[in-house]
Amino acid sequence: MLRNLFVATVVVTLAGCATVQMRIDDVKPGCGADRPFAEGGERATLWIRTSAEFRSSAEGIYRSALLGLQQGLNDATWSAEPTQKGDFSRLPPAVVMDIDDTALDNSAPQARMLLATACPGDFDVLWDSWVAERAAPAVPGAAEFIRAARELKDPQGRPVRVFLITNRACGARRGVASACPQQDDTLANLRALGLDTSTLNDDLMLKGERPEWVSEKLPRRQLVARDYRIVLNVGDDLADFIPDVRQQSLAEREQARCRHHDWWGARWFVIPNPMYGSWQRVLGPELDAALAQPSIPSACGETG
Ligand SMILES: [Mg+2]
Repeated sequence: MLRNLFVATVVVTLAGCATVQMRIDDVKPGCGADRPFAEGGERATLWIRTSAEFRSSAEGIYRSALLGLQQGLNDATWSAEPTQKGDFSRLPPAVVMDIDDTALDNSAPQARMLLATACPGDFDVLWDSWVAERAAPAVPGAAEFIRAARELKDPQGRPVRVFLITNRACGARRGVASACPQQDDTLANLRALGLDTSTLNDDLMLKGERPEWVSEKLPRRQLVARDYRIVLNVGDDLADFIPDVRQQSLAEREQARCRHHDWWGARWFVIPNPMYGSWQRVLGPELDAALAQPSIPSACGETG
C-alpha cells in the first residue's frame, strides 16, 4: 500500500520538461545478496528533513563560513587548498563548494529510496530522475552564502568567484540530446533558488565533463588553484577536502583530518550529512559489528 502510494507520488510533470518518472516500478522487492541502498537511514533522513537542529546547524556553519571568507580575503598568504603552492598571493580569490547535501538538499530522494526499499542497482536511474526534477531545495544558509560570497572582494577589488565541484555525473539520458543534461538541470535548480547562474555555467564542474574529472575532486581543485587563490572550501564529506580518503581506514581518516586540525571552521566548513558519505562506506555492511567497536580515539593531540 505504502509502495503504491509512493509510486503515484513520484510521477511529476515539469514545466518545459518531459514527464519524469522515478522508476520505482522497476524496483524489485528484495535486493538479493545486497542490502537496500538507504537501509538504516530513517533517523538521519528525518533529521535533515525535519529538525530545527539541522537547520540551525547549517545556517550557523554558513554564517561562520562567511566570516572565515572575509578573514581569508584580507590575508594573501591564506589558501584553503593544501596543494596550492607558489605565489598564490597575486591570484584573485575563489571559494570551492560541493553541491549535493552541501548546497542542495537531497533528503527527498533518500526518503523515496527508503520508502521504496530501493536496492544499490536501482540507484543510478532513481538519482538521475531526481536530478532531472530540478527540485532540490537549498541547504539552509547555502543560497544566502553563495550570494553574499560573490558580492565580496579582496583588497585589490577583485570579486570572489564560487566554483561548484560536484560528483553529479554527466551521462546520456534517454530522449535527451544533450551529452550532459545534468548540467542544465543543476543550473536550472540553482536558478530556481534565486541564484544568478550567468557565470555559474563556467563555475559548475561536473564529474565526467573532462576525462580527468573523476570522483576524486583534487584535479578539479587544482585546476581552480592554477588561476585563483582558494580562500574557502565547503563540503559534506571528508573527500571534498582531502584526497584518497575513500580508500582509507577509520584510523587513517582520523589522522588525515587531524593534519589540518586548525583549518576546520576556519578555511574548511563541513555541513553535517548523516544520511550517506565516505564515512559510511568505510564501515562496510556489518553495522552491528561497527557499533560494537570502541570510538576512534582522536589523533589531534591535546587540541583534538
Ligand atoms: Mg556532497
